[in-house]
Amino acid sequence: MTIRSDLAGIRYRDETPADRDTFGVLWARVRQAPGEGRPNFPAMHPARQRQVQAERLCQVCGGTASHTRDGWLFLMNDDEDCYEGARVTKPPVCLPCAALAVRLCPHLTNPVGVRSRRPKIWGVFGTLFGPTPNAQLKVHEDDHLPYGHRASDWFLATQLVVQLKRCTVVDLDTELAALT
Ligand SMILES: [Zn+2]
Repeated sequence: MTIRSDLAGIRYRDETPADRDTFGVLWARVRQAPGEGRPNFPAMHPARQRQVQAERLCQVCGGTASHTRDGWLFLMNDDEDCYEGARVTKPPVCLPCAALAVRLCPHLTNPVGVRSRRPKIWGVFGTLFGPTPNAQLKVHEDDHLPYGHRASDWFLATQLVVQLKRCTVVDLDTELAALT
């Protein structure tokens, strides 16, 4: 990765149109070191995470995520203070995979099922770069960046962020029990 010739952002030396999303943000080709301190089940390749999140597929099996009249099912830890408007990098899940994740995912200490009637594409998670006087790249902490932000040209995305709107906390045990 390098600085653009107009010094106004970053690019790949051998960049192709597939390296950017429809908002023009550059995407990592491999997963960067995770540093977000969030549930991480599983660690996903950036391009795959973007597709799964955008198409509301299950983050584990890639099938259709669970959807009821309360919306799409997301798994969150109950230490989040507010689900409404939460910005999440983890795509939704289907019910069988929710059962699996609740049992097996070490990052989900107190899993809560949250359904969102309107998961809205918000922006990206990744790494912000900047120029230094000698035209080298300066790396800032990994962070969230909303689409349309003026720093977009300096951002390398690793995950698509969705904001959960019209949320309902659901009784996961009851929903999972109905499966069997
Ligand atoms: Zn699944």
